[in-house]
Amino acid sequence: MNEGVLAVDLGGTNLRMAAVADDGAILHLTRRSTPKSVTPVELISLAGEMADECIAKIGSETTLLGIAFAAPAPSARNSEGILTRLPNIPTLNGMNLKAALRDRFSFPVTVENDAIAAAIGEHWMGASKDADTSIIITLGTGVGGGIIIDGEPYRGVDGTAGEIGHVCVIPDGHPCGCGSRGCVEQYASATAIVRMARENGLDFSTSRDVYNAFQGGDERAAIVFRQMGSYLGIVLAGLVNTLNPDMIVIAGGASGAWDAFIGPLKDEIHLRAFHAPSTRVKIARTQLGDNAGILGAARSAILNAESLTVV
Ligand SMILES: [Zn+2]
Repeated sequence: MNEGVLAVDLGGTNLRMAAVADDGAILHLTRRSTPKSVTPVELISLAGEMADECIAKIGSETTLLGIAFAAPAPSARNSEGILTRLPNIPTLNGMNLKAALRDRFSFPVTVENDAIAAAIGEHWMGASKDADTSIIITLGTGVGGGIIIDGEPYRGVDGTAGEIGHVCVIPDGHPCGCGSRGCVEQYASATAIVRMARENGLDFSTSRDVYNAFQGGDERAAIVFRQMGSYLGIVLAGLVNTLNPDMIVIAGGASGAWDAFIGPLKDEIHLRAFHAPSTRVKIARTQLGDNAGILGAARSAILNAESLTVV
């Protein structure tokens, strides 16, 4: 009899669920669009439907040990399990996800911040597999962050650690959804790339369009990505000095523009961070891509099930 878990990645655009074996193999993966203005009841109903599909597909060969949900909320794993500050899915603000999942599913429930889940996933199966201390930055609608120290995710006292996207780079800069101003999220997310392109006279609706313009030789698009790389590099230089990591993994949709921003990013790290940690740190692209969060959530559920067994 094989063992596995259900892992869910909740995003503003897609809800993805997979049945994952305890060795990390994805047994079945299913995806739905996240309904616009999804309510807590709709979310749980959709998750239930997807779980039924996964369970039917894997058959009775695999025993499921638990379910883990990666959510784009800073304190997703706090003791109360209440989701707060979901700028892209505001209708779920205040939802007690953990309690709702417990009511619907008969297995142990784990709720994890999505960027921390991605960090756990890359450390388990991906780019930072051999790195004891690593940082992941996810460049999507926002900028997420996750930190692994000595092989363990670092969550902080309230479970909110790793909010690297909200490190300030310009004190009086662009207003941020978090209530502050000039956070690096406002200069390095996919959303920010589109805004900065517009400020430079390029009217596109996606960061991919801006990248295509860069590839076509558009100097205004090149300026946008240079700014993005520089601001991100300034923040990462601070983290390199603070944590002395083996590796920084860059993930998320906007990481696809790698060649457009990685030069200025590395330049800032080497310019600003101390010599030893800045020459030590490797800057790597995600190896798991879209599956980093789902695999990290799966790993959390497996560890949670093991700890319950021990107790
Ligand atoms: Zn912010």
